[in-house]
Amino acid sequence: MVNLEQRLSDTALRLKPQDIFLFNARALKTPGVINMTVGEPNFNTPKHIQAAAQSAIAQQPIRYTVPQGKPELTQAIADFLAAKYQVHYQPDSEIITTIGVTEGVFTTLKAIINPGDEVLLPSPCFTIYEPDILLNQGVPVIIDTSKTNFRLDPKVLAATLKAHPQAKAIILNYPNNPTGVTYTKEQLLPLVEVLRQYEIFVISDEIYSELSYDVAHTSMAQLLPEQTILLNGVSKSHAMTGWRVGYICGPQAIMQHILHVHELVTTSIPATSQYAAQEALANGANDALPMKSEYQKRRDVLLAGLRKLGFAVTKPQGAFYIFAKIPDTLNQDDLQLAQDLIAQEKLALLPGSFFGRGGAGYLRISYAASMENINLTLERLADYLNK
Ligand code: PLP
Repeated sequence: MVNLEQRLSDTALRLKPQDIFLFNARALKTPGVINMTVGEPNFNTPKHIQAAAQSAIAQQPIRYTVPQGKPELTQAIADFLAAKYQVHYQPDSEIITTIGVTEGVFTTLKAIINPGDEVLLPSPCFTIYEPDILLNQGVPVIIDTSKTNFRLDPKVLAATLKAHPQAKAIILNYPNNPTGVTYTKEQLLPLVEVLRQYEIFVISDEIYSELSYDVAHTSMAQLLPEQTILLNGVSKSHAMTGWRVGYICGPQAIMQHILHVHELVTTSIPATSQYAAQEALANGANDALPMKSEYQKRRDVLLAGLRKLGFAVTKPQGAFYIFAKIPDTLNQDDLQLAQDLIAQEKLALLPGSFFGRGGAGYLRISYAASMENINLTLERLADYLNK
């Protein structure tokens, strides 16, 4: 009897299914549960974008495109970035469209990492970064940001780089999942000063750039273009998670190698989605505004309610998550509390430790949810605390 499982790659065997998916699958099976774990907009894709995709399907055959994406789409991305940040990327050689930022992270890491290369990872962070580094045989170097208000501190960054001068890359993400923390230009500049001193790639995941509430979003591409590999997409800004369109921008000499990897991974991203994303970026500059103002209202209700219940919460300035510190009086670990909340209150929140070492002792609550569910969340938490 052959046993092919034992012939799988060591990396594949070591990778566990992500806790977050297992937890969600279990949570959703609980009848009557309120699911506050979801990381995608609960809005529909704007009508003009749907119409552009429908009309493209009706008018022409949907074929492979050039691997970086249709010239009209990469041009729309270049125009969007030029208008918003005054950064100028060549549409044919410095921009590649990807199957979401998710593919962007993998493809970028594949292009730059040799086995054993270190990648700095401020933690807590989006759940795919660490397994993606491992999948590419890199070594994550975790920087715990929980002691510095979930911001990467320039002194800590400098000390980490001094200890790991050969580190190949750092992955930044702001506005941040899971904390909602972002950086002003003034807060980014000291980090840039440190990063400039090393030959390190700065992979900057700015997928929540259009959901920045209290400060204008500054891109790393504006401050450190020669080292930055910018990742963004339309999933969150235009409520287009299922269309799977992201993009990578960076210096030409680097992008041609990333393009080779991308081409092997996927040939080109789905053409229908490219028509939709082109419409989103060319004619949907204001699409995020009504969603943003709705998220902001929800954030404010949830923030005030949580603080009233005794949770210490840093005001999130972007994305659609609140990262709430579990009150000491509960004396409970985050996974246990999340499990108890599902079992006893039918309330699904994510344990902070799913987002890495820096997240232990916290719960992540997504407010990409109806106001009704936000109010029910507060009621159910109050009920649990009063027991
Ligand atoms: N980056 C971060 C920080 C995210 O939170 C998410 C989704 O939750 C993604 C990337 C995924 O983006 P995409 O839909 O473009 O793959």
